[in-house]
Amino acid sequence: MASPPHPNLELRPLGNTGLKLSCVGFGASPLGSVFGPVSEHDAISSVREAFHLGINFFDTSPYYGGTLSEKMLGKGLKALGVPRNEYIVSTKCGRYLEGFDFSAERVTKSIDESLARLQLDYVDILQCHDIEFGSLDQIVNETIPALQKLKEAGKIRFIGITGLPLSVFTYVLDRVPPGTVDVILSYCRYSINDSTLEDLLPYLKSKGVGVISASPLAMGLLTENGPPEWHPASAELKSTCQAAAAFCKAKGKNISKLAMQYSLANKDISSVLVGMNSVRQVKENVYAATELATFGKDQETLSEVEAILSPVKNQTWPSGIQES
Ligand code: NAD
Repeated sequence: MASPPHPNLELRPLGNTGLKLSCVGFGASPLGSVFGPVSEHDAISSVREAFHLGINFFDTSPYYGGTLSEKMLGKGLKALGVPRNEYIVSTKCGRYLEGFDFSAERVTKSIDESLARLQLDYVDILQCHDIEFGSLDQIVNETIPALQKLKEAGKIRFIGITGLPLSVFTYVLDRVPPGTVDVILSYCRYSINDSTLEDLLPYLKSKGVGVISASPLAMGLLTENGPPEWHPASAELKSTCQAAAAFCKAKGKNISKLAMQYSLANKDISSVLVGMNSVRQVKENVYAATELATFGKDQETLSEVEAILSPVKNQTWPSGIQES
């Protein structure tokens, strides 16, 4: 039985889009069984619970689980049986299981495929997925103009770009006309172990670009269960995060809640996008937000965890052709 709609989950404006996103966003990559198998039943129940607890923002990609995430999210949203304008959906283009292709032809075809899998007529945001793996000049000169045509055709409402290195955002935003790119999605850059996105926030604000911060749990590093096998962090980063998780557990605290609250506390971030694969995780992450709003951060535990993580603070990993 789903919980009644939650009145307390904060909505935050997304740049100049006019959209208001729930501060906790639903990352649907786990629905593509990226972090381990997830049944269709669990996928649909997680989406339903999220919506009923006040989450209105759902993010996916054709890349996650080789299209499985989009299909599962589509089923979950359809099962809600609510008007389309009650939820905000973002998907991506240019990154696929078979590889990267940011050509105008591919991304134009890609949106039709995504809409069919999601069972939707339009998505609110279409994002060029992990642009550091493509030519940034192609993104500026070919991919984004193709997305503008999709906007005019009514298939997408807003345009975004995503990536790990923060330099890709300034490269593109400095080269496109103002208002062309509406949103950036950064990941693993505003967590307790890596907060480098913070320095870029004033620049993004000055450009009127909405900010989505994904992977507040550093793709599993900041969880009691630890990251999946494929996680690209160094052994040192993984073991230090696990030491921090064990410290929290011994103290009767939960590192994932602490990490969610750390990201949520910065209101220049419109939505903290966390991957969820169960009703339990949805409840925990929404509760982290409502508890933060009522009681504030657990500053004592946060300071202790920051001290444990200080040897690896802002340590990241290479991503993309520009950095290799
Ligand atoms: P995350 O940091 O959100 O961690 C997800 C992992 O933590 C999963 O294993 C999940 O089951 C687990 N988890 C969630 N809540 C938990 C809780 N309360 N307690 C314990 N474990 C919990 O990493 P993510 O899923 O990679 O990122 C979130 C979303 O952001 C993705 O699903 C995706 O939608 C988006 N994202 C986009 C990009 C990109 O565009 N390049 C990159 C990364 C993430």
